[in-house]
This record gives sequence, structure tokens and C-alpha cells, in this order.
Amino acid sequence: MNFHLHSTWSDGVYTPEIIVKEAIKRKIDKIAITDHYQTSKTASLPPKYLKMYVDDIKALRKKYGEEIDIYIGLEIDFSPRTDIENLPEFEDVDFLLFEYVQDELWDGYPLWMLLDLRKKYEQPVILAHNEISRNFRDVDYTSLARVMESDNIGIELNTNYNYTKLDMPYYRLAEDFFAVLREFKVPISVGSDMHDDLNELAQVEDAFSFIQDMKLEDNFKLFLSEVSKYEE
Ligand SMILES: [Zn+2]
Repeated sequence: MNFHLHSTWSDGVYTPEIIVKEAIKRKIDKIAITDHYQTSKTASLPPKYLKMYVDDIKALRKKYGEEIDIYIGLEIDFSPRTDIENLPEFEDVDFLLFEYVQDELWDGYPLWMLLDLRKKYEQPVILAHNEISRNFRDVDYTSLARVMESDNIGIELNTNYNYTKLDMPYYRLAEDFFAVLREFKVPISVGSDMHDDLNELAQVEDAFSFIQDMKLEDNFKLFLSEVSKYEE
């Protein structure tokens, strides 16, 4: 399973259909296309194309739904680079990834702003590739986990090399946090943030062994059950 993939709808090089076919070939059970929603940071989905994007992935669901589960996601750059004030309802989008939450280096808005915004959405809201050990270094992890549970905000284990430090993925640098998190009903998703290398479709093993080692299976199942609610 891989819940973080970019396509030609934003800054990826493959169309959603090529990605879906390749995922089927590699016997992947579930994938999500998660293109960038409007941001000045990178090629991204303009608001006026949102419906076309959703319809495109829905059509693939119809065509390949027997062979693979396909989810519709979006990644939102939670910073002044995005028009956060005017985000739409995101109807029919199965979950939303928010990147750079509380990330000073990337001008990310603080978590409390997301708590406010989150109330607008019913689908899962997930912190994408967050470097917890840096962005939340002054925060008590139990308090953070409690806030995430009560406001229903999940977190992603992102296996992409861009989100490592000294070859360690950010989630492995935050083991203390995840040891606390397993006591809370906080959804955990997994993804490789693929843009241009189809081999990255399957490069999520490390995240799944982390889930196993850290006993986070219930958190991952929670994500699966929540995200499936919004699938047609
Ligand atoms: Zn991404």
C-alpha cells in the first residue's frame, strides 16, 4: 500500500493511469494519488481543475477497481504559498495531506491553525512528512498526541529520501513520539512521495516494519477504515 504519489496533475512525471497499471503489476493492494493542490512552491492543481482531477481518478477506480483500491488524496502546502483562506470543501477527496505544518524552515503555519481549519473537513487530515523531532521539539509528546487525537489529525510515515536526516527517515528520528502515539486513536498513513521513479511505488517496506516494531498497527488500521468511508 502506498498513500502518497504524485502524477502529471501536479509535479509528477507519470499519469495516474500509468501509476495505477504499474501498481497492479507490482501487486500493490491500495494506492492514493495525492497531487499538490494550488501552491506557488511547485507545479500544482489549480482550483478550477479540482473536479477534473477527482473525476479522472474516479474513472480509473471504475476501470481498475477489481484489481486495486484507488484513493483520491491531495497534498496541501500549509504556508503562505497557498491561499489557505479560500480552500474549497474538497468534496469526494478521500483524505488531505498537510505538509510543512509548524515547520519554520519552510514558513509552515502552526498546528493550532490547522486545528481550526480541520473542522471544515470530514475526511482524514494527515501531517505529511513532518519532522516531529524538530518542529515539535519544545512540545510534550503526550500533550501533542492528545491534541491530535481530540482534533482527529493523523500523521504520515514518509519513506522518501528527501525526508531523512543522516539516512534516517523523520519517523525513525521520532521514536519517542510514536511510542506515545500508539496509546492514542491517531491515524497513521504510509507513503513514498513518488514523483518520477516507479520503483518508489513499492519502497514503503521500512515504514511497515516500523509500524510492526513500534506496535502501531491499530493506528494504521484506523487510517484505512477512515479513508475507506469516503470511497465510493
Ligand atoms: Zn508529496
